[in-house]
Amino acid sequence: MVVKSLKAVVSNGIEVTPRPALWADVPDEQWNDWRWQMSNRLNTIQELEQIIRLTDDEKEGLSAAGLFRIDITPYFASLIAPDDPTCPVRRQVIPTGREARAFDAVMADSLSEDAHSPVPGLVHRYPDRALMLVTTECASYCRYCTRSRLVGDNSANFSSAEHEEQLEYLANTPQVRDVLLSGGDPLTMAPRRLYGLLKALRSIPHIEIVRIGSRVPVFLPQRITDDLCDMLAEFHPLWLNIHVNHAKEITPELSRALDRLSRAGIPLGNQAVLLRGVNDSPEVQMELVHKLVRNRVRPYYLYQCDLVQGAGHFRTPVSVGIEIIEALRGHTSGYAVPSYIVDAPGGGGKIPVMPQYVISQSPGKVVLRNYEGFITTYYEPEDYDRSERDDLWLEGSAAAREEGAQKGVADLNAGRRLTIKPEGFDALHTRGRTDAIFKRGKRNRLDNYDELDG
Ligand code: SF4
Repeated sequence: MVVKSLKAVVSNGIEVTPRPALWADVPDEQWNDWRWQMSNRLNTIQELEQIIRLTDDEKEGLSAAGLFRIDITPYFASLIAPDDPTCPVRRQVIPTGREARAFDAVMADSLSEDAHSPVPGLVHRYPDRALMLVTTECASYCRYCTRSRLVGDNSANFSSAEHEEQLEYLANTPQVRDVLLSGGDPLTMAPRRLYGLLKALRSIPHIEIVRIGSRVPVFLPQRITDDLCDMLAEFHPLWLNIHVNHAKEITPELSRALDRLSRAGIPLGNQAVLLRGVNDSPEVQMELVHKLVRNRVRPYYLYQCDLVQGAGHFRTPVSVGIEIIEALRGHTSGYAVPSYIVDAPGGGGKIPVMPQYVISQSPGKVVLRNYEGFITTYYEPEDYDRSERDDLWLEGSAAAREEGAQKGVADLNAGRRLTIKPEGFDALHTRGRTDAIFKRGKRNRLDNYDELDG
């Protein structure tokens, strides 16, 4: 592990990221204008060579056919170490030759989002929440992007008519109480359009919270203006998840943007992706989560890299993620420990994965271990009566959401169901029989398995 840091400089009394010589003469007014940043993004070898000494591998990546879109804001490009290809910022946004190489498990839509879309751009995977893809634009493009099948493609962008369809579906689906706006990056949208969407969502009475997933604060902190924060604050409760993978991305500019968002009352979380060569070590993750919580951002998820085209060389074994959580849990504040998630290929949704802390169980006892390897026994109460839960108080809102809920393992615990069967299970085990089960023997009474499962 090597210690390398980018030192901020002081300009007009505030700390800022030093700019490469190319932009030294750009007036602060322009540099701090998000529209200027968007219009001056770098995307060719020639432009990048003005600030970075590109390696042959990077030149190969930048010249590959059918490449996922490249665009890097001048601000984010300023964070790149110009002479060091191991720079974690550089690896996230500059392609290499390996990006074009296929790997065995690659899938275009590894999370099966398209299959869960009742209308274009609206993904309804989970019972009470929905994902609204509102744009295909981002401020810069991450080489490992899960949605590279559509992100960065202007021709695939969502029209106002499609936004209307998404809103109509949500209005007609009362079980959805939580809507996540993502894309692409919703904060790259024209302010008026974003305002219109948030307003329309807020007019749907059953939508309790709105969330935004955005990497704009990281790529383009200039966009987090007081005006934007005031506008977002009109739509509370509104939550925002940012996306930082390495402590190097948390600059004075990002810290000020996060402070503005926090002061607008917006709870902040971070979704990081576990990336080989960027952040796949406990030390790097520890530094990241500490810097996030210092900026009032709760580390929310650490994602296993998805099985998407171009991301093969970023993937790590799942055991690396478990090793990282093992090194964080107990070793630092619980607030600083994200959930490590494998987003199930094939559309199974998010699966949390963690070290095993329950060592064993016997009636009345659970044997547990802590982060140090200390092993202890927890004695369970002998008089616990589940039926007493019938007296617990509810305000009624949870019951009202029952409709449309998907079945799951929780139903087995609750006794609403006895089994969960793989597709084709019954057909396979009845070996082609179509008539009713014939039961031989006096004591072979009808069991209630099928009744429960019905
Ligand atoms: S910001 Fe998000 S959506 Fe945009 S390229 Fe990066 S990972 Fe993909």
